[in-house]
Amino acid sequence: MSVGVLALQGDFREHADVLRALGADVVHVRRPEELARVNGLVIPGGESSVMDKLSRLFGLAEPLRAAVRLGLPVYGTCAGLIMLADRILDGIEGQESIGGLDIAVRRNAFGSQTASFETDLDIPQFGEPPVHAAFIRAPVVETVGPKATALATLADGRCVAVTQGNLLGTSFHPEITGEYRFHEYFLRTVASAGFNA
Ligand code: GLN
Repeated sequence: MSVGVLALQGDFREHADVLRALGADVVHVRRPEELARVNGLVIPGGESSVMDKLSRLFGLAEPLRAAVRLGLPVYGTCAGLIMLADRILDGIEGQESIGGLDIAVRRNAFGSQTASFETDLDIPQFGEPPVHAAFIRAPVVETVGPKATALATLADGRCVAVTQGNLLGTSFHPEITGEYRFHEYFLRTVASAGFNA
């Protein structure tokens, strides 16, 4: 199974390490030819407005949009979740997303870098122990549309993880806290989707 990690910007190395530890064959994706070779893709954390600009500059945005429409499994963390959102409530001027998840996100919902925090989340699908989640200048899912399903919420009820078909998005960064269950879940989706460009 060949799993891509969008390697334009952000913490793509951390994702690649987790995916390799779980036995995946990892491809760093910077060009359309690399995207065409993968059976699934992770969009890392970073800065979504920069990732948006670079993905357009590298000619990846349109092929990625098309692949998502055709069923490419994609897992986005933080900025990656923003890239997968159909609606960004507080994007910078001209910011576009790839879309696919029927959600509206607020990019810097918790404030600046200094307002970053860690917390434990109960996610029924994953059982025990709770997920230890790191939120770094994290987005929140303000609206979950009818096609998407909330997977995790904070104690105050705000949604921070969603699924929809072959797409998965989390506001937080499992790749930096030794939490492998999201990547395992994603790799199972990749295996069962059998997506080939
Ligand atoms: N708030 C950032 C953005 O707009 C995301 C931060 C992150 O990925 N840790 O892209």
